[in-house]
Amino acid sequence: MKFLADAMLGKLARWLRMLGHDVVYSVDFDDAELLELAKTEERVLLTRDLELYKRAIIKGLDAYYVEGKTGPEWLAEVAKRYSLQLEIDMDKSHCPICNTKLVAAPKEQLKNELEKNTYTYYDKFWKCPNCGQIYWQGAHWKQITATLSQVQQKRRCL
Ligand SMILES: [Zn+2]
Repeated sequence: MKFLADAMLGKLARWLRMLGHDVVYSVDFDDAELLELAKTEERVLLTRDLELYKRAIIKGLDAYYVEGKTGPEWLAEVAKRYSLQLEIDMDKSHCPICNTKLVAAPKEQLKNELEKNTYTYYDKFWKCPNCGQIYWQGAHWKQITATLSQVQQKRRCL
């Protein structure tokens, strides 16, 4: 899905991108720009600003007012509202930093860009063709999947 996240929802934007969604996010947009972008690019506006949410609805835009306090709560709400899968498939992920779709990168091509241990212990890598960031399911991956299962539990309770 195509989303547009307001300036307060950076964490949510990164999660949604990893889950494979196209999410525009910048702290530089003002309310008028957000409404215009949601309209012209047909994006769902995600916001924690109730006034902005109401303005979007009056204009006939698809918008969701995010109420929770933490990143996982936000993701649980949005996943429930839009029936989103809560499993990451890196072949579909967008770069959490810049929203460009990641591409699988053959390990051999990354030899000079990775630390020796990372190169030794991991085999699958993805690279952002825009910002050059390299991703792999490293030590932090356990934390990511643990958070996603928390999010799944929260979603069931909503
Ligand atoms: Zn990137």
